[in-house]
Amino acid sequence: MNIHEYQAKQIFRDHDLPAPPGRVTRDADEASEIAADYGGRVVVKAQVHTGGRGKAGGVKLADDPEEAREAADAILGMDIKGLTVRKVLVTPAVDIESEAYAGIVMDRSRDRPVFMVSPEGGMDIETVAEEKPEAIFRQPIDPAYGLLPHQATTLAYRLYDEPKLAKEAAGILGKLWKAYRGSDATMVEINPLVRTPDDELRAIDAKMNLDDNALFRHPDLEEMRDVEAEDDSERKAREAGLSYIKLDGDVGCCVNGAGLAMATMDLVKYYGGDPANFLDIGGSSSPDKVVSALEIITDDPSVSSILFNIFGGITRCDDVANGIVEATSRLDLDVPITIRLTGTNEEEALEILRDNGFEAMSDMDEAVQRAVEAAG
Ligand code: GDP
Ligand code: MN
Repeated sequence: MNIHEYQAKQIFRDHDLPAPPGRVTRDADEASEIAADYGGRVVVKAQVHTGGRGKAGGVKLADDPEEAREAADAILGMDIKGLTVRKVLVTPAVDIESEAYAGIVMDRSRDRPVFMVSPEGGMDIETVAEEKPEAIFRQPIDPAYGLLPHQATTLAYRLYDEPKLAKEAAGILGKLWKAYRGSDATMVEINPLVRTPDDELRAIDAKMNLDDNALFRHPDLEEMRDVEAEDDSERKAREAGLSYIKLDGDVGCCVNGAGLAMATMDLVKYYGGDPANFLDIGGSSSPDKVVSALEIITDDPSVSSILFNIFGGITRCDDVANGIVEATSRLDLDVPITIRLTGTNEEEALEILRDNGFEAMSDMDEAVQRAVEAAG
């Protein structure tokens, strides 16, 4: 789950990290009131689930409340990388001497989190990685031990030569690790970590991604979910109890069981097609789930063929068949559907489907080939 900068900064402050205060609003007039409350220079910042807001014009400095109003007015409603800005953060401006980078990502190839720091902060870390890879320092972390003090010190000296600043930075890295670990995050980033002219360190940007599978342990963090900012189909799927991930292809896949869903996607590829999604409708699927699944798949305009692949164990094939019939009668579909069902109540299911004019079969290879052909 993605959270906004203002929420990540709240988690930072809860862990005693030096993130400046701030308030969020959807209203330009209120933005100017907040600016007046803080007094002095503020920054007005788009709250959307993406980086690169600065470059897109979504981060503006304002010297007085009137400028803050104008900045908020310009930013609210703005489109940043396809996302509409609905909220802005108003926060006291920090003077910048230099910008550094500090972050932790889960590195699946190493099976552990990796700490990354760079004195070249401010820009995308991906850009630094491309243009100046020697400016990024990495430290894999053994999750059993956490960030060890000597690792924190070594990383901190990559950022600052002066012992006083390095010591301060080492403390920040330690707290950043605790924030990451304590929230079950998969990514956390301070970019930039700012050194002020007075040699103070401030986290003026914050990005965090939380592990969906651990959210049940963090009801307070789950509350940070911004339904408005989430992908429509992924939200629908979550609410319907389906696992759905949108992909770039055109063969919409509706499968029961994650393993079979993966195998189906492999086979679609094997026969020259491209899956439009991963979708697992789960074990004992009700007709309602099938309806939701079809709605989600057909909401995606690139889908030009739909493939059902159902292995009936606990799931009854006739339930799924009834769901398909019901859903298609409600939905007015013009996309061809290919259905493969096998297992519990297979015969009944095939009969229901054929009676209703569907192409249904029990062979997986055959079904996948037809679905790929139908996508053209
Ligand atoms: P991002 O572009 O989405 O990563 O948004 P950031 O919060 O990182 O802001 C982008 C850039 O705006 C930063 O790298 C800074 O150069 C500038 N900026 C943001 N906040 C401040 C601030 O408080 N003071 C100053 N002087 N510049 C800021
Ligand atoms: Mn940033």
